[in-house]
Amino acid sequence: MNRPLHRQPSCLAPVLLLALSATTGCPYTGNNGKNNGDSAVNPLRIETQSVVSDSGGVITLSLDVQDGERFQVVQDDGKGGVVFTDSLTDPSGTKVLDWQDWQTSKYSYTEAVYGAKYANTTNWPIREEDGPTRGGTWTFVGDTLKSNYSQKPNEPVDITIAYRKDADPTHGAVHVIVAYCTGVDSDPEVVRGVEAAVATWTQIWAAFGITLTVDYAEIALDPALPNTSDGEQAYQDLAAQYDDHPLIEVIGDSIAGDLTILGETSAIPGPMAATQITAVEVSWMGHAGGNGNFSDGEIQMMGETMAHETGHFLGMFHPVEDGWQYWDYLDDTEDCTNQNTCEADLGSNLMFPYTICTTFTSCDPQQDLSPKQVGIMLNYVGVE
Ligand SMILES: [Zn+2]
Repeated sequence: MNRPLHRQPSCLAPVLLLALSATTGCPYTGNNGKNNGDSAVNPLRIETQSVVSDSGGVITLSLDVQDGERFQVVQDDGKGGVVFTDSLTDPSGTKVLDWQDWQTSKYSYTEAVYGAKYANTTNWPIREEDGPTRGGTWTFVGDTLKSNYSQKPNEPVDITIAYRKDADPTHGAVHVIVAYCTGVDSDPEVVRGVEAAVATWTQIWAAFGITLTVDYAEIALDPALPNTSDGEQAYQDLAAQYDDHPLIEVIGDSIAGDLTILGETSAIPGPMAATQITAVEVSWMGHAGGNGNFSDGEIQMMGETMAHETGHFLGMFHPVEDGWQYWDYLDDTEDCTNQNTCEADLGSNLMFPYTICTTFTSCDPQQDLSPKQVGIMLNYVGVE
């Protein structure tokens, strides 16, 4: 299946409806730099390991998970090779995630089992019903692959494992860094549009119990952005400046030279560890259009794009992919099978695969989420 990483408008041309694609050995504890030793207040712990794959390119890790902890394993190849998740096994010996179950499935669960360039992210639990986790020794098995997907034996890989326990699993908080590419924030109209869109995004997530704290930054990067999944050292460098693993939202002019790409995530889910793909991209020009000014409708759309793309980064798939033959692995989003039904029943969902507009500047709001979609976001370990 195509990977649903982009968000594009439907209103430019009907053809677009068919074109969518979908610290080595050094334990560290941090929570916004605060550390008072109370695990209920300071619930994040992070460990890093440098490992070498075996002669078959396989990596095997033992994870010491405490009862109820969420955890995230990020394999960082760092050189553009492909890293891949084979399986995750719980302390009772049950394989809770097996790549073979998902390669040909009509349902999307995690991209970790498809492999990713630079870094691959396995977050557990994924759905609400996959948790809470059992304490004990979990086993993670991954692979290091060449870009042609042949195995890469004896390959060094940095692994970051983050564990977090919640005081309140029904609510979350996320720190966001909105990073302007070089020169983008010199246009006051762009800054106005971005800040208003961030306010929309904040409102959308607040309605589901997730609080955003947003800071603005600059990133030394050409505003003609590459595809997010192609990796940028500047993303890793920016993310590494923060101890609390914020979401990085990069504001550029365009993505991959295509102004119909409104926003893009690197992976579903993306890594909370600092890697070359630790970012979500948004094209301000794709929203503002040729006049360079933001209407209210364009601001709404950009706020929804920010919420949608970061929703992918936190693990949500589209409830249905256009083509109407692939769905997310949630039982409270309908498995609709044609465009009319899907638009009628899921068109207002934040994670619908495209915008539904009467004109470019007038699109239907897409701000709904099902309880189980929200559950996926709350399980992402980067969400406090
Ligand atoms: Zn999408």
